[in-house]
Amino acid sequence: LNFKDYNLSDEILKAIDRLNYTSPTEVQQKVIPIALKGRDVVVKSQTGSGKTASFAIPICDKVDWEENKPQALVVTPTRELAIQVREEFFNIGRFKRLKVSEVYGQFSFRRQEKELKQKTHIVVGTPGRLIDHMERGTIDLSMIKYLVIDEADEMLNMGFIEQIEAIIEKLPKNRITMLLSATIPKDIQNLCRSYMKDYEQIEI
Ligand code: AMP
Repeated sequence: LNFKDYNLSDEILKAIDRLNYTSPTEVQQKVIPIALKGRDVVVKSQTGSGKTASFAIPICDKVDWEENKPQALVVTPTRELAIQVREEFFNIGRFKRLKVSEVYGQFSFRRQEKELKQKTHIVVGTPGRLIDHMERGTIDLSMIKYLVIDEADEMLNMGFIEQIEAIIEKLPKNRITMLLSATIPKDIQNLCRSYMKDYEQIEI
């Protein structure tokens, strides 16, 4: 299988080529077509599988460059993961000139606030700081079309589930939701049932 089979734009294919990703990994083979179709998806897979690009590729492809407000929100349990995910989005969206913002704690709120005031396509962040921005009105989520909840089981372990729910409640209903987790305990299953529509579940 080849990335060219997915009908991705030239800018995205060029970026994938530049990253030396020659063929899609198993998780990418399963997730990319579902996401491009616009279906919600729950993905049970480990890190190291190429899971980040499985959502970053279709999102970067679909995002409308002209729109100034963020169109994709990726929530991660830790700042380290947020940084890695941002890097992957940056690399994949590079030739489309996509702007990716990071929002996490222990880092200047004011600087993030300034960044969020400018054009940005994708926001990657941790739950606490995202909620701070939402409460202070410094993030506009009205144009979000893609939500990714990465490492959902870690969110659960860290006690972030209520914060995740509070974030989801504030997002437009008409969106595509992707949830990734190494394990799918009951609380995560319930989260999916409550906030995702008609989703496909895949396991790697
Ligand atoms: P992840 O599971 O998202 O943390 O990715 C693990 C590693 O695999 C990262 O270093 C990626 O850069 C790399 N990677 C992702 N997709 C591919 C691919 N299709 N071919 C080769 N490497 C990849």
